[in-house]
Amino acid sequence: MTTNNAADRPDDAPGLIRQLNSVFNRRERGQLAILAVALVVRAGFEMIGVASIAPFMSVVADPSVVQTNEWLRMAYEAIGFTSVTTFLTALGVAVVGVLAVSNTFSALALWGMLRFSYGMHHRLSNRLLRGYLAQPYSFFVERNSAGFSKTILSEVGQVIQGVMTPVLNITARSLVVVGLVGLLIVLDPILALVIVLVLGGAYGGLYMLVRAKQRGLGRERVAANKERFKVTGEAFGGIKDVKVLGREGAFASRFAPASWTFSKTSASNAVLTQLPRYLFETIAFGGIVVIVLYYLQAGRGLAQILPTISLYAFAGYRLMPELQQLFSGVASIRFNRAALDDLTADLDRFSPAASASDAGPLPFTESITFKDVTFHYAGAERPALDSISFPILRNQTIGLVGASGSGKTTLVDLLLGLYTPALGRILVDGIPITTQNLSAWRRQVGYVPQQIFLCDDTVTNNIAFGVPAADVDSERVKQAAQIAHLHDFVLTLPNGYETVVGERGARLSGGQRQRIGIARALYHDPEVIIMDEATSALDGMTENAVMEAIHALAGTKTIILIAHRLSTVQEADILYLLDEGSLVDQGSFDQLCQRSELFQTFAGSALETDNGKTYA
Ligand code: ADP
Ligand code: MG
Repeated sequence: MTTNNAADRPDDAPGLIRQLNSVFNRRERGQLAILAVALVVRAGFEMIGVASIAPFMSVVADPSVVQTNEWLRMAYEAIGFTSVTTFLTALGVAVVGVLAVSNTFSALALWGMLRFSYGMHHRLSNRLLRGYLAQPYSFFVERNSAGFSKTILSEVGQVIQGVMTPVLNITARSLVVVGLVGLLIVLDPILALVIVLVLGGAYGGLYMLVRAKQRGLGRERVAANKERFKVTGEAFGGIKDVKVLGREGAFASRFAPASWTFSKTSASNAVLTQLPRYLFETIAFGGIVVIVLYYLQAGRGLAQILPTISLYAFAGYRLMPELQQLFSGVASIRFNRAALDDLTADLDRFSPAASASDAGPLPFTESITFKDVTFHYAGAERPALDSISFPILRNQTIGLVGASGSGKTTLVDLLLGLYTPALGRILVDGIPITTQNLSAWRRQVGYVPQQIFLCDDTVTNNIAFGVPAADVDSERVKQAAQIAHLHDFVLTLPNGYETVVGERGARLSGGQRQRIGIARALYHDPEVIIMDEATSALDGMTENAVMEAIHALAGTKTIILIAHRLSTVQEADILYLLDEGSLVDQGSFDQLCQRSELFQTFAGSALETDNGKTYA
C-alpha cells in the first residue's frame, strides 16, 4: 500500500525530506552530511574558477588595466612583478591552477556522490530482502510475491536514480545558482533581478503546470511495473499449464498494456523534464533581443549596452544548464515519489521488533497440547478452526482426518507457528509457542508440505535446503534419503547426489520430488515429523514403501499425518476427525470405523476413490 496523503500536500518538500531521512541509517546520514559539505565547497570553487577568468581576460584585452584597476595593481606591486608579460603568465598559471583544483574537487565530489548512490542501492535492496524474509507467513499469503521482487529489483533503482541522485544534484546545483546570482547582484543588481524573474519565473511556472501530471504519471508507472512483474512471474511459473492450455497469447497480451503504460509514462516523464530546455533557450535569447531593443529605444549607444549584454549572455550561458538540471531534478522527484512511497511503506514495517528473535528455548519431552484453539482467516465468514483441544504425546503417531476444507492444513500451519491462534493456545510441555521461542520450536519440527519446492540445484543441496554448501553433512543427507526411500533412485542418476534436478525439479517425477521433500524434512533429524498429504503424489507401491519407512520411526519420533488415503493413517495410534473446523471425534481406526458415520463415508469411499478428488 502506498501512503499517498503525505505527497498530496501542496508543498511536500518537508515530507520528502522526512521520508528520505527514514530511509537512511545513522552512518548514511553521516556520509550525507560530509557529502553536503563537499558540495558547498565545490560550488565555492566553481565560483572562484568562473571569477578568476575575468581579471586574466581583462589584462589580455587591455594591459593598461594593471595600472588602472586597484586590485590588479595591488597584486602586481605586492609580489613585485617587473613586466606585464610575466604578470600575465603568472595570472594565467594561477587561473589554470584554480581551475585544476576546482575540477579535481568536482571530480571527487562526483565520485563521492556516485559511490553513495550505488552503495545505497545495494544496502536498500539487501535491507528490503531481509525485511521481507523476516515477515510472518500471513504477510506473504496476503500479498503477491511479484511485488517483493519488483520493489527489491526495480523500485530501489528508480528511487536512487529518480529521487536520491536528483536531491543531491539539486543541492549542488542550487548552490551554484545562488553563487552565480550573487555574483550578478554584485555586478549589476537590476540585471540580476530581471534574469531571476524571467528565467526563475519561466521554470517555476512550468513546474507548477507539470507537477500534478508528474505525480499521476509516477503512480501509473508503479502500478504498471507491478503488473509487468506479476504477469512474467505467472507466465514462467506456470509454464506447463501455459503451454498445455495454449495460453501463451493470453499472457503476452496481458503483458503488453502494462509494458506500454510503463514505457509511455517513463517517456512522458523524460519529455516533461528534458524538453523545456529548448523553450527556455528561446526565452533567454528573446530576452537578449528585448534588452538590446529596449536600450536602443532609450537612446543608448552600442558601447554602453555591450558590456551589459555580454554579462547577461555569460550569466545566462552559465545559469541555463544549472536551472535546467534543477527543474528536471524537481520534476523527476515528483514523478518518482510514488516509487519512494512504495519503498518506504515496506521499509517502515520492518522495525527491528517485527523480526522473530531467537531468544528462548522450547524443550519438548512430554506433549504438545492444543487448548481451545480458534483461528479465523482474514475476511473469512466462519472460523477455519473452532475451539480445538487435544493432546499429542511425545513419540505418538497421530492422524488428522477430515473432508477437504475441514481445517487440517490450518491446524498444522498453526502448529508450525505460521499463524497465531486468535483464541486459545498451543503448549509445548506446558509452554506456549511465542515469537521468542518459535525458531527453537521449528528446529525440532520436520515438515513435508503437499507441494515440494525444489531449487535448480543438486539433490544434496535440495535435501539440505538452504544450508551453505560448506556446512552440508553428506552422511545425514544419505541417511535422510534412505529413510525416504530415495537413496536407490539417486544412485541411478548420472551424478548421484550431485545431479542437478532442474528448475522446480523439472527433471523429476512427482513421487521423486515428494521423496526429496521428505528427506529434506528428515535431514535435521527432527523430533516431530509433520506430513500434510505428503504422499498424495506417490503411486500406491511407493507410498506404501515410504509409509513403512515413516512408521518405522514410530515410537521414536512424534508423527503427525494428514493423508487422503485412510490406509496411510490406519497404523496411527490415534486419529482425530475434523469437520468444518471442529474436532468431532477421535479414536483408533477401528473405533472410528465402528462409531463414526462421517468416518465411514471416508473409509467407504476413500479406499476406492484413491484419486484424492473427493477427500483430500
Ligand atoms: P484442509 O487442509 O482440511 O483441506 P484447510 O485448512 O486448507 O483445509 O482450509 C480450511 C478452511 O480455511 C477452508 O474453508 C479454506 O477455504 C479456508 N482457507 C484456507 N486458507 C485460507 C486463506 N489463506 N485465506 C482464507 N481462507 C482460507
Ligand atoms: Mg490441506
